[in-house]
Amino acid sequence: MMRFPITDLLNEQNCHDFVLGLLHPDGLGCPSGHPLPDGQCPHRPVRASVADYRCRTCGKVFNLFTGTVWAGTHYSCAKIVLILRGFAQGVPTLQLADELECDYGTLLGYRHEMQAAALQLRDTSPLPDAVTEADEAFQNAGEKGDRHSDPEDPPRRRANKRKGKGTMANDRPPIQGIVGRDSGEIRLTVCGDTRIDTVQPEVEAKTGTGITLYTDESSAYNRVAASGRGCATS
Ligand SMILES: [Zn+2]
Repeated sequence: MMRFPITDLLNEQNCHDFVLGLLHPDGLGCPSGHPLPDGQCPHRPVRASVADYRCRTCGKVFNLFTGTVWAGTHYSCAKIVLILRGFAQGVPTLQLADELECDYGTLLGYRHEMQAAALQLRDTSPLPDAVTEADEAFQNAGEKGDRHSDPEDPPRRRANKRKGKGTMANDRPPIQGIVGRDSGEIRLTVCGDTRIDTVQPEVEAKTGTGITLYTDESSAYNRVAASGRGCATS
């Protein structure tokens, strides 16, 4: 199989600017929040695109990774861009580590840190909508990925061909989601399984009473009506 040195092919400065925009949408500043003045020279260049700056107000030394999940990383910005893309697209950690030539354990650590951060920042308030829609998706968690025995059969396809319902235990945890028809907002939870005792509390946390919930035929939603919500199959 032909291998593409994709990290080397990306423009490091463009990747740096992209990562800077993601990590610091309001511009780079020191850990105490003093903004970095335009045109200030680096305190010392760490490597090609990542420079350390010394704050002129408080003297703290920082770079674009300070105070983020990526603090202290030796990865290039190009590699970080590709890692973030892989995480966002649900690429298994093992496949990503292989493609980007980085350590599997290190990458898994970053993935867990970012998942925890995303979990903490998500909106958990009930949807404001009168009409909502529920569904479950099954996502290959990518944590138990098999080694690439057959390059023609990528791990994700293999995972989706696996028989039986996805659960946390078989590495295909269900993601229970409810979307508001008017607001378009969505509330997602990674669940252990799709049984009624698991799903009903999700419905009650994500919607208010008196709303209508459209569901599929799944028996997991059989208790919705009893909890003061209208329930209809879509
Ligand atoms: Zn400062």
